[in-house]
Amino acid sequence: NVTVKPPPEPSPLRKARFFKANMRILVTGGAGFIGSHLVDKLMQNEKNEVIVVDNYFTGSKDNLKQWIGHPRFELIRHDVTETLLVEVDQIYHLACPASPIFYKYNPVKTIKTNVIGTLNMLGLAKRVGARILLTSTSEVYGDPLVHPQDESYWGNVNPIGVRSCYDEGKRVAETLMFDYHRQHGIEIRIARIFNTYGPRMNIDDGRVVSNFIAQAIRDEPLTVQLPGTQTRSFCYVSDMVDGLIRLMEGDNTGPINIGNPGEFTMLELAETVKEMINPEVKIIKVENTPDDPRQRKPDITKAKELLGWEPKIKLHEGIPLMEEDFRLRLGISRKN
Ligand code: NAD
Ligand code: UDP
Ligand code: UDP
Repeated sequence: NVTVKPPPEPSPLRKARFFKANMRILVTGGAGFIGSHLVDKLMQNEKNEVIVVDNYFTGSKDNLKQWIGHPRFELIRHDVTETLLVEVDQIYHLACPASPIFYKYNPVKTIKTNVIGTLNMLGLAKRVGARILLTSTSEVYGDPLVHPQDESYWGNVNPIGVRSCYDEGKRVAETLMFDYHRQHGIEIRIARIFNTYGPRMNIDDGRVVSNFIAQAIRDEPLTVQLPGTQTRSFCYVSDMVDGLIRLMEGDNTGPINIGNPGEFTMLELAETVKEMINPEVKIIKVENTPDDPRQRKPDITKAKELLGWEPKIKLHEGIPLMEEDFRLRLGISRKN
């Protein structure tokens, strides 16, 4: 007769420390811009334990410094293109560089992160029975021929362009999510995130809001890429995090657009930043990069109806919050 040993009891230490925590959440890319704000919000709920995995390509430990050492928090240096073994209830899968200059820097790595990284997180979700949310992007709509973009639009994407590692990568990631859902019954959630801004963005990451704010603070000309009439719609990061958590907690797989429908041309954005931060600064026109989408604005009907979500922070309220953070990090205070 073989005696089977019963599984060990959780250690008294673990029980004492974690008796309140009943949800263990993995955040990939949690040291990045959106990820670290998401971690802040998740950590505010004492029922949550949070594990962050990040390879620090574009993220930083600094973004998480307030949580390092906290008993409900763990930070692991790990690349999602490698197998990961952890036991969790939910996975927020954000790991992927989001700024064009970073995702174009090593395009093969970007596509591996999107495809192999997402496959690994789905394999993990399957093994442990976790629910998984993917942060997809409005870039899946490419240079859209439909305006504003709703989730039923299939997009207009160049499969062989310099942005393809990112936007086609995310399209495959969405396909993998739905195939694991249909084939293996994995609980999935897909958010299509539109341009997001706020404190902790990399100062020199080349994205338009961070560029203009840093330039205005440094007294450098604001660089509007030609033609300047192209549009984007900017969502403040706290609104984004609320939308992501609602999507994860709700019953809908998505894809669901999460973004702010307030649409601006890049020239209008430059004028706004100039007026709010530094009326003396010049606005100049510079060359654009290939395949730049001409217009982008989310249709958020689904988010409103299915998640009861809509953004609260307007651009003119968000810009000063980001300016404050950038001034602190750049060490340049206001002149007056
Ligand atoms: P970010 O670059 O600040 O964060 C991404 C994080 O992922 C970083 O901490 C980075 O180090 C990490 N990472 C990258 N590759 C990794 C890998 N192979 N293994 C482990 N970690 C890795 O970008 P963000 O703006 O916070 O974007 C987060 C997510 O949201 C991304 O998936 C992005 O595609 C998506 N998204 C963002 C925006 C936006 O406007 N910020 C728009 C659409 C979609
Ligand atoms: N995987 C992982 N962590 C896990 C389980 C799986 O990283 O806990 C990875 C695994 O390395 C594999 C991928 O997820 O490459 C897909 O896993 P799945 O079980 O779906 O496929 P298979 O291993 O059968 O190819
Ligand atoms: N852009 C600009 N000046 C800059 C950086 C970007 O005019 O210094 C423009 C860019 O051409 C694009 C828009 O701003 O039309 C948004 O670019 P970003 O890289 O922030 O994000 P994208 O939406 O392209 O991923």
